[in-house]
Formats: sequence, C-alpha cells, structure tokens
Amino acid sequence: LHFKKDRSLLDMFLAKSAKAVQALNGVSLALQKGETLGIVGESGCGKSTLARAIAGLYKPQSGDISFHGRSTASNKGAALREFNRRVQMIFQDPYSSLNPRLRVGDMLREALTVHNMCPPEAVGARIDELLDLVRLPRDAAEKLPHEFSGGQRQRIAIARALSVEPEVLIADELVSALDVSVQAQVVNLLLSLQDELGLTVLFVAHDLRLVRHVSHRVAVIYLGSVVEIGDAKGLFANPKHPYSQALLSAAPSLNPDEKGNEIVLTGELPSPLNIPSGCAFHGRCPIAQDICRERKPILEGNPKSGQVACHLVEPTAN
Ligand code: SF4
Ligand code: MG
Repeated sequence: LHFKKDRSLLDMFLAKSAKAVQALNGVSLALQKGETLGIVGESGCGKSTLARAIAGLYKPQSGDISFHGRSTASNKGAALREFNRRVQMIFQDPYSSLNPRLRVGDMLREALTVHNMCPPEAVGARIDELLDLVRLPRDAAEKLPHEFSGGQRQRIAIARALSVEPEVLIADELVSALDVSVQAQVVNLLLSLQDELGLTVLFVAHDLRLVRHVSHRVAVIYLGSVVEIGDAKGLFANPKHPYSQALLSAAPSLNPDEKGNEIVLTGELPSPLNIPSGCAFHGRCPIAQDICRERKPILEGNPKSGQVACHLVEPTAN
C-alpha cells in the first residue's frame, strides 16, 4: 500500500467542521506487506487524518493511494468495494463504533453478507470462528454491545474487521480508551492475529511504548509531514530528527534509567492552518539555522534503513 500526497501547500481540509481541520502536507509512505508501521506525533499533527485517508475515508485533494502497485484514485463499483474490504479500519472509541442495537452475531452476519464472504449456510460457523479468533465466548453472538467491557468491544470491532478477510488493518488509537490493564491484552491479540493471518498493520497511537512494542517501522509526523521514518528499534534507540528526539525524550517510560534528559520544546504547536515557512519545526527546534526558515527539508536517506527530513542531520549512510 503506497500513500503519496505531494502538493506542497496546505490544500487538504479534511474534516467537515472548521474546528477539526487537520492537514497533511507532502506525506509519502509505503506500507509493506506483513509489516506494522507505527505512526507517532503530538495530537493534532494529522495522524488520524493520515489513517483515514489511507483507509479511503477521506479523499486527498492531490496525490494518490496505490494498492498492490495500482492507483485507487479512479476506483468505482466493484473495485472500490474490494479496496474497502481489503483495507479495514478500527476506531478508537469502542463505545461509539458499534451499533448499540445490533447483536454481535447480527453485526458479523451483516458484514459477512454485504461482502459475500461465505454461503448463507456457512455464516453461523464463520461467526463462531471469528469469536474464537478474538478469544470471545461463542455466546457473545447473542448479546448487545452494552453487555461488554471496553476491551471486549474492541475485540468485537476486530472480529468485525476480520470477518471480511482484509489484508490491511488500520488501528487508530486502538487501545487508548481502555484501562491500562486491558490495553496489553488487546494489543497482544492484534500481534498474534497479525502473525496468524499475515496482516499488514498501520498502528496510529500517541503512546510511544505501545508503538515501540508493536511496530517494525515507525514514522514520526510533525504538522502533517513525515519528519523521520525508519526501523522501529533503530529509531527509538537513536532518533535523528530534532523533533523525534524531543518527542521520544518526553516519554519517561521508554528509558526508566535515564532521568532528566527530557528535551523541552519551547513554543506551541503551530496551527495547521498556518504552517511556518521552511522547516515547519523551526520555531521550536533547538538547533535551527537560517536555512531552516527558508527551505523546507525533504526526506532523505534509504527507505530501508531510515529517512530524515532535516537540513542539519545526515540520514544513516547505508
Ligand atoms: Fe531543526 Fe532546521 Fe532540522 Fe528543521 S531543518 S529540524 S529547524 S535543524
Ligand atoms: Mg487522533
């Protein structure tokens, strides 16, 4: 799955209400089959917008999303339905993403039927299988969403997504609405399902510990642009972009032995409606130079070993 958004100006007003405007700005990402790509950044940086754009819920005003090397821009009818089936999104809030009046079994039956996933006589057995897959008891099919805990509801949402046999799962803050004690169970379920089913996962989260735990690669987003992307281990151990360094240093749980190393960013996150010139980070960057105000840095480096968008930082040389 390849997402490319290449107009350099803020031209993507995605939310319907002016209050919630978020923008993406020149984002280009490739999601490799079978990997988990983590997306991190402060809230309001465009993470959710990116997730939704990739899932096809927002249409970029410029740029394209290609799937298996083919542009999805002109998808209609059967091709559009097929894309919508193969790329499934799971939302943050398990309390509002499930229809409160539909029994779990009916919810799954509906998904299976809409996409013609199996013959009518096999639907019941498939529902049992799906509940087994997400480790819910089979009698869950008879119940309504309100009869479940938040963690169980997220399992139901995962079962619904899996019912249509997707290739890509996009999880936007999958567990951030859940109790910490439940988060690990749901995330570990996701990991084992990924393994079992060979899923490709886009994992959007503000919790850096979680992202590090689940991701093969990580992309750091600042004001709608990718500022650094690379192998998760390397990026967490040795972030290169000044923004990645600050973001990671602010997560104390990542480095329990190192205290007092937090890089405090001065200045507020600028409004996405008024992105600074040059490097959008220059007003908060501890090492900014004149060139940073003038020219926007582009992502450089090897997509495999890591890429950084900064005038003063060299990407890894290999
Ligand atoms: Fe800082 Fe300049 Fe690099 Fe931007 S380009 S991160 S302002 S050093
Ligand atoms: Mg969000």
